Amino acid sequence: MKLAMIGFGQAGGKILDRFLEYDSTRGTGIVGHAVAVNSAKADLMGLDYVPNENRVLIGQSVVKGHGAGTEPELGERCAKEDMEEIQSAIDRMVSSEIDAFLVMAGLGGGTGSGGAPVLAEHLQRLYVEPVYGLGILPARDEGGIYNRNAARSFQRFAEAVDNLLTFDNDAFKTGGESLGEGYAEINAEIITRFGALFSAGEVEALGDNVAESVVDASEIINTLGEHGISSVGYASEPVQTKQQSSGLLDRLRGGNDKNGFSSGGDATNRITSLVRKATLGKLTLQCEVDSTERVLLLVSGPPEALNRKGIDKARKWLESQTDCMEVRAGDYPLPNEDKVAAIVVLSGVTDVPRVKEMQRMAVEAEEKVEEIRSQSKDDLDDLIEYGDDETQ
Ligand code: GDP
Repeated sequence: MKLAMIGFGQAGGKILDRFLEYDSTRGTGIVGHAVAVNSAKADLMGLDYVPNENRVLIGQSVVKGHGAGTEPELGERCAKEDMEEIQSAIDRMVSSEIDAFLVMAGLGGGTGSGGAPVLAEHLQRLYVEPVYGLGILPARDEGGIYNRNAARSFQRFAEAVDNLLTFDNDAFKTGGESLGEGYAEINAEIITRFGALFSAGEVEALGDNVAESVVDASEIINTLGEHGISSVGYASEPVQTKQQSSGLLDRLRGGNDKNGFSSGGDATNRITSLVRKATLGKLTLQCEVDSTERVLLLVSGPPEALNRKGIDKARKWLESQTDCMEVRAGDYPLPNEDKVAAIVVLSGVTDVPRVKEMQRMAVEAEEKVEEIRSQSKDDLDDLIEYGDDETQ
């Protein structure tokens, strides 16, 4: 599937950069066009892969290149003021090659939080292609303001896009390391999941290795639908490639028995077990699986490790778990790949405790801001008022 990707704000830009890196190292072609938008000049300059002419600095008259901090209202203003600049960069795409748009942003900050929904609304008005969002939720310990920003942005973004693919930083947080290292690891997790999902639709990349049941761009588009939130599950298991297993050392060790796909039964069991792990393990957005409207299952790996029976069994299991009839499934053979991976897209999920919690944190944060504001006003009044004291 070929996407016109727009990374909004710092997180959005960095994730876009990683998608471009994924394409260049794997030879996939999922990024049909890449545009990074930011109100902070330094963040735009720090990108490695986004072409210079497609890095758009917005809101110079408002924030002078210094970013929008944690104020989505500023991000929104910058986006509205410079929508023409953003549009010019998007116009450079070859539109006949694009299947859909993907607007990416961290929802807890300022530029992406405020700007990404405005851009999505703009794209919806202008193009017939679907417009998807990749919304990054802040970790809980980032605090009230970030969660408040995210709760507001999440609502507007979800209403503006055909589907909001959601990724919760909190669920993938790793302890100890610096913020930068932590984000690098989290961004790698994002690309593993969404890179694999979108490359599935790039059928041309398969060459002679035609999948038994192909998932193409239209299957992904049908699964994502025209309104809703999605969560993605992923699990993988290493296997030896055919090349590795036919090596001399391996033959001396006794050949094929140890190569990881010695029988069809093994392959079937591996697939069903990976699909269970992907669905019941850590999702990009933790949710009740049976509140899903549509499901897409994708199994990738070396052709020898994929089989129809495994995918059929896994699809039936998914139907019963999610209680939904619309389950699409397919495989994606990758010769020389050293792992089998299952990707499960749960589209149209509605029972999501994390979102409810974020909304509660947002209300608390708003009350606290209001309380502090009125307390400060009272304190200031007390400080500057002198008339009454004088008469005493
Ligand atoms: P903006 O530049 O004003 O849009 O704000 P940022 O993108 O810097 O930050 C918004 C939120 O995105 C933060 O609160 C974090 O939760 C998240 N974030 C920032 N950088 C990254 C990143 O590299 N990866 C991920 N996954 N999240 C990030």
